[in-house]
Amino acid sequence: YSAKAERNQVQFYKRKYSQQESKRRMIEKKLKVAIAERHLHLFYQPRVDIHTGKIRSVEALCRWDDEESGSIPPNIFIPIAEETGLIHELSQLVMEMVCQQLVDWHNTGIDVPIAFNLSVKDLKYFDLVHNLRDTINHYGVSGNMLEVEITESAAMTDVINTVKVLKQLKQFGIKLSIDDFGKGYSSLAYLSQLPVDNLKIDKYFVSRLSPNFKDHMVNLNIIRTIISLAQSLGLNTVAEGIETPNQYNTLKSLGCHMGQGIFFYHPMPATQLSKLLHREARLARNTINQ
Ligand code: C2E
Ligand code: MG
Ligand code: MG
Ligand code: MG
Repeated sequence: YSAKAERNQVQFYKRKYSQQESKRRMIEKKLKVAIAERHLHLFYQPRVDIHTGKIRSVEALCRWDDEESGSIPPNIFIPIAEETGLIHELSQLVMEMVCQQLVDWHNTGIDVPIAFNLSVKDLKYFDLVHNLRDTINHYGVSGNMLEVEITESAAMTDVINTVKVLKQLKQFGIKLSIDDFGKGYSSLAYLSQLPVDNLKIDKYFVSRLSPNFKDHMVNLNIIRTIISLAQSLGLNTVAEGIETPNQYNTLKSLGCHMGQGIFFYHPMPATQLSKLLHREARLARNTINQ
């Protein structure tokens, strides 16, 4: 390795780093505008009863289509929003869009609970409880039509505060799910203190439920253990990322309650979901009339 080659290498990384940095800054700037102008929107993914296939609720997933860069995924913009503090405005916007959607659906005869994601930063933000209460009241929706999802790792940071905030949300009738369960490090002592309703089994384990994976038996046992833990705590289980009939059948036989994933439905725009829900309601009515 010559000194010159090394210098070039260093230059290369510096340039690469600063390119990434300026791209990040550009996204941050655009995201700020997009939030202020309410250019973000939500897709909805049905969550079904794994035994009947009926839609029980939907999860709101944030989408951002930028004019120049096209669609930017949440795995890119949520971390940036968290680092820059934009997450509070983003979460407020999401809560408003969710409430508006509940009102719109209710007005057409559809009442389906909506789950939405909050970030660890939102739990530390002392106004969350007030803002959420004000938003619910402003739109006139009932708390039990809402569900908050926080990741396991978020739930396990600053547990004393998390328990306090979640208990307050619970008082509004809001349901709570621990997202991406199995990926973080749960303190079982704290888990039993959290006022949660659902554990969402992380899609990593679900994706490896195929004999093609060397460790598929290990994964099966992990899922079995999560389900039995949930049962001991009186919680429901939701498996996320179900893609294949095999994954679906395995989860069903393990006693998992609910499922989400492209095997059932992709995340979709509200208009598409409305049609789907109306069709389901019509089918249910016809079955009753027969
Ligand atoms: P998440 O809450 O765990 O959401 C599940 C993710 O799995 C979503 O990715 C969903 O589109 C995707 N998914 C659905 N079905 C399947 C499947 O069958 N297979 C696989 N492999 N994936 C599937 P998405 O929409 O890209 O969101 C990624 C993450 O970004 C979410 O993970 C959540 O942590 C975060 N996020 C999304 N919207 C919001 C939001 O409004 N606020 C906050 N704070 N975070 C959000
Ligand atoms: Mg989620
Ligand atoms: Mg998840
Ligand atoms: Mg996730």
